[in-house]
Amino acid sequence: MPACSAKESADVVVIGAGIQGLSAAWHLAKFGIRDVALVEKSTVGSGSSRWSASMLMKQMWGEWQQRFSAYTFERYAAFAEDTGFDAGFVRTGTLTLVTPDVAEQEQHFVDLRRKYGVETQVLTPDEVVRWLPLLSPDEMTFGVYGPDDGVLDTPNILRGWRHSAQAMGVTIHEGRRATGLEIESGRIAAVHTTAGPIATRCAVNAAGADADEVGAWAGLRIPLLNRVRNIFLVERPPQLKSRIYVMDAATHWYFRSDNGEVLVGMGAREHATVQDRPDMDYWPEMRAMCLRKAPALAQARIVGGWAGIRPLTPDDRPVLGPVAEVEGFINNCGWGGVGIMNAPVGGQLVAEQIHDGRTSTFDTGPFLLSRFN
Ligand SMILES: Cc1cc2nc3c(=O)[nH]c(=O)nc-3n(C[C@H](O)[C@H](O)[C@H](O)COP(=O)(O)OP(=O)(O)OC[C@H]3O[C@@H](n4cnc5c(N)ncnc54)[C@H](O)[C@@H]3O)c2cc1C
Repeated sequence: MPACSAKESADVVVIGAGIQGLSAAWHLAKFGIRDVALVEKSTVGSGSSRWSASMLMKQMWGEWQQRFSAYTFERYAAFAEDTGFDAGFVRTGTLTLVTPDVAEQEQHFVDLRRKYGVETQVLTPDEVVRWLPLLSPDEMTFGVYGPDDGVLDTPNILRGWRHSAQAMGVTIHEGRRATGLEIESGRIAAVHTTAGPIATRCAVNAAGADADEVGAWAGLRIPLLNRVRNIFLVERPPQLKSRIYVMDAATHWYFRSDNGEVLVGMGAREHATVQDRPDMDYWPEMRAMCLRKAPALAQARIVGGWAGIRPLTPDDRPVLGPVAEVEGFINNCGWGGVGIMNAPVGGQLVAEQIHDGRTSTFDTGPFLLSRFN
């Protein structure tokens, strides 16, 4: 451990206790690195992880996502065995509505999924509407049905990793904000926090929407595009019987039935507020989409909702792995709209990197921050 003035120390400090930070801490402990301090400025899971739609999907949109998905399905299936808590996966299926402008691209994704052995069915607009009469066939070229996708119980996953990590020796500090890094001779020496510095050899940046600020302490620029997505909860129209997740491929407008209500989501707004209710200024845009795709949802009464940040990046890939500039600084951020489903990947790769000095489950090459240089 590098010399520094801190009285407190930890082998690894993880900054941010969202799903990715918790996963990193849990995986480190599993690898035998148990002297881990997880510092969280607020409470566990209070960032983006609180606001997600909790989808776990096999119908993904490219090679790396398809490979991650195969891995995460296996890992979440073993979650109860790993942690004693159930990941709560419920198979709902997904239906993607494809318009002419994205038909070629979506057909490519269908071919790719089949190459990866994922069950994917292409439906005509008539078949779609016969099955889900709530939907409008206008604008639709075809639909893509994935029977194996579904929804996770994110709060229970957070509980599982939290309790299991603590049982293995990880210390979680809520209400303790990281405020800077101490770097000596190009190596991490300490993480400064509102409750004093913690001497360490390794800092993991799992700060979600604030990952750019944490990166800046190491002289790095992480090009996050924090975008706010609104979810409205509306009363379930009687003709909607299924829990299937329906998404428009071109606009990413989506809905799914949940506990008698329908969750309707869309949007990537800059500078919007994150809150535990949806932004009503956004409803006209959302309602216009409902009118085009599923008119009954446009008439339904709004009963709640929320608005949360998706920490996106310019190429829609997460930022993972070490950096050449500072030894001991490891990124696990920029997860955008897929950070819940891919939390087993982020944690596993962080633990491999710190334990072995390299990753073996996946190559982090395409995800390193240096790709933006
Ligand atoms: C509306 C919506 C729907 C979504 N739907 C899905 C979905 O269906 N499936 C899916 O996989 N993903 C989905 N996502 C994306 C998913 O929520 C995120 O990718 C994921 O939560 C990111 O997790 P994280 O741990 O990186 O970030 P966060 O959960 O934001 O955690 C980061 C933590 O770091 C803490 N922090 C920040 N700075 C500091 C500091 N200086 N010191 C200490 N702590 C700090 C924050 O307080 C926060 O708790 C959705 C997101 C939204 C908004």
